[in-house]
Amino acid sequence: MRPPKSRLRVRSDEFRVAIVGLGYVGLSTAACLASKFHVTGVDLDQKKVKLIREGVVPFREEKLSPLLKKNVSNGMLSCTNSFDAISDADFIFIAVGTPSAKSGEIDLTQVRSAAQSIGEAFATSPKRPVVIIKSTVIPGTSKTIVPILEKYSGKACGEGFGVCSNPEFLREGQAVQDTLKPSRIVIGPVDEFSRQQILSFYRRFYGKQMPPVVDTSPETAEMIKYASNAFLATKISFINLVARLCEKIPGSDVNDVAKGMGLDPRIGPLFLQAGPGFGGSCFPKDVQALVRYAKTEGIDTSLLESTLAINETQPENVATQAEKMLGGLEGKSIAVLGLAFNPNTDDVRESRAIPLIRKLVDGGATVGAYDPMAMEGAKKELGSIITYSSDAKECVKGSDLVIIMTAWDEFRKLDSEDLTRLMGGKPRVLDARRIYSPEKFANADFSATGLGTPRV
Ligand code: NAD
Repeated sequence: MRPPKSRLRVRSDEFRVAIVGLGYVGLSTAACLASKFHVTGVDLDQKKVKLIREGVVPFREEKLSPLLKKNVSNGMLSCTNSFDAISDADFIFIAVGTPSAKSGEIDLTQVRSAAQSIGEAFATSPKRPVVIIKSTVIPGTSKTIVPILEKYSGKACGEGFGVCSNPEFLREGQAVQDTLKPSRIVIGPVDEFSRQQILSFYRRFYGKQMPPVVDTSPETAEMIKYASNAFLATKISFINLVARLCEKIPGSDVNDVAKGMGLDPRIGPLFLQAGPGFGGSCFPKDVQALVRYAKTEGIDTSLLESTLAINETQPENVATQAEKMLGGLEGKSIAVLGLAFNPNTDDVRESRAIPLIRKLVDGGATVGAYDPMAMEGAKKELGSIITYSSDAKECVKGSDLVIIMTAWDEFRKLDSEDLTRLMGGKPRVLDARRIYSPEKFANADFSATGLGTPRV
């Protein structure tokens, strides 16, 4: 006699999950999913795999370390260089990098290579896996990996396996919280089997906390990711443009303009903070990739090009302001506090501090820098053109000017008495992130000008 139907079904927490690419996105996803499912992570980088096997996160990401340690030690998360280990997976997430090619367009080499290895891996598997594209890819890409998977697995999409676009929206520095409580899940299944599978997977994972789902076509899902990043980047460049205007208007302050705008529910307060511009591994490359893609479709990209152009010149604005405050850069000693593109990460990719420092050094200044997490990454970028300090106070000591480039909480604790003592005389502070209230620095030559407010 056949057992009742329900007993034939595999319990979904017995799903086997594979994550290909263990960078910020892949490892954060793997560690979180491993609280419920068996997860196998694959990465080509042997050093990274070795560290992860020891429970060590190869980059800095708050809250990831204890989760990784727990799920590696209890056997829920394993990690390897070999794709053989994922042949029995039910869900295979692609989370490899999608960098910019020299021309600015997206480079899909890692995605295609991962798809080939995945196809080979499940060729002889009795499973019917769903391949999920988490990497940020230009609209149409998910469908273009179907022939690669078919070729190397010898199976047909929709029958032998499924494909689904499922872009990722996590923020570095908050990757665990964002994975456990995402604002939304966007899915773009290529086939009906994938739709059912991915929905049951996420329902199982999130249970009663299931976030809102946008279930759409793969192309729309891919576009949602680009449109979101391009919009947020444009919001930042927009307020930086307003900041430039405010500098010319005596009595105006961009922070109050942003506050007044942000209270309008149609606008909202987030990403309306004037500063040295956006950086990181996503906004600059994603906006560039969208521009390149739009151009191939004959679409006018001037809005997005302005977003990029304003961003590109923001570090120059900060350098010009520093020059004004010091009466020239030559021979001056400048302390730069903050090297990471955002607080709570060690990521210096496209950090605005890097071009700023190069400009200051080119102008003849001697630069010392400090960041709570990003010293190693910055050393790789800047080498010996600057000196590196072991804490903020040491960095500031004896300098002519302090520039705040990352909004770390640690820097908020510095006050004008500290600075007067460490810098001697009347301290000069250029607050490129607007983390201080100007009143706090009444005794200093304090400025956030160049960033939308008159000098105190
Ligand atoms: P990353 O560069 O930190 O990591 C990518 C990893 O993939 C690396 O460890 C690399 O060794 C590995 N890899 C490359 N080719 C491989 C292959 N063929 N097989 C196995 N492993 C391979 O990238 P990331 O920052 O985690 O971003 C991954 C994707 O997610 C990108 O498309 C990015 O745009 C997108 N994304 C990133 C963020 C973010 O905040 N970093 C947020 C949302 C989306």
